[in-house]
Amino acid sequence: MIQIKDWLYHLNSFGDFNLLWIFFIENLLLIVLSVFVGLIIEFQNTVFNKKDFKWIFSTLVCNTLVTFIGFKLFILNYIQLSFEFSIPSFLVDLLWITLAMDFLMFVFHYFIHKLKWFYTLHKHHHLHIETNVYSLYVLHPIETLVFGTLWLIVIMLFDFNFYSLSIYLILNLTYGILGHLKVDVFPKFWSKNSLTKWISTTTFHNHHHKDEEKNFGFYFTFWDKIFKTYK
Ligand SMILES: [Zn+2]
Ligand SMILES: [Zn+2]
Repeated sequence: MIQIKDWLYHLNSFGDFNLLWIFFIENLLLIVLSVFVGLIIEFQNTVFNKKDFKWIFSTLVCNTLVTFIGFKLFILNYIQLSFEFSIPSFLVDLLWITLAMDFLMFVFHYFIHKLKWFYTLHKHHHLHIETNVYSLYVLHPIETLVFGTLWLIVIMLFDFNFYSLSIYLILNLTYGILGHLKVDVFPKFWSKNSLTKWISTTTFHNHHHKDEEKNFGFYFTFWDKIFKTYK
């Protein structure tokens, strides 16, 4: 669809300062939406700790920067997106971006735990042994920027379908939220059924916060199964 592409180019005419504000508000709304989901699913557990504010705020600033840089890379044609919709290309691209990002994040997450000097960045996230939706945003700025950079590199290297990337971003946020709740919204059969057991659950990431040697993956369980870190 040409209209979305035109609309994105039109957005660029707002100027960099306004764009930064727009992306700041967009990312702020995503945090507000996450907290809202947390409140709906587990009201009692969705408790804000003042000590987390600086990490959550810096994550918001970093996500704003990554959105801005990604947007500019798109305007400058370093990121090429297809706006033609077809079900096969939509599905192939969605699967490919999800697999590629999960593998890269698995590797990064594994090494951030294993390398001592690197772990000092990640330890803040692990102060949350009992997690809630806010834990998702308790990240060191360098961690957030590395995750963002991985994302930008992958979408620069391959020409993805715009719709696949949009759905991936929604799935990524959904998985980030669900992974940090206490209530597991996935049905009981999920981790036993041969079709669904490859996709992670709330319990899967909860285990990682309780045992930091296990479950480094995010969307899928098979990287941990392959590398023998699955619990
Ligand atoms: Zn970790
Ligand atoms: Zn976590």
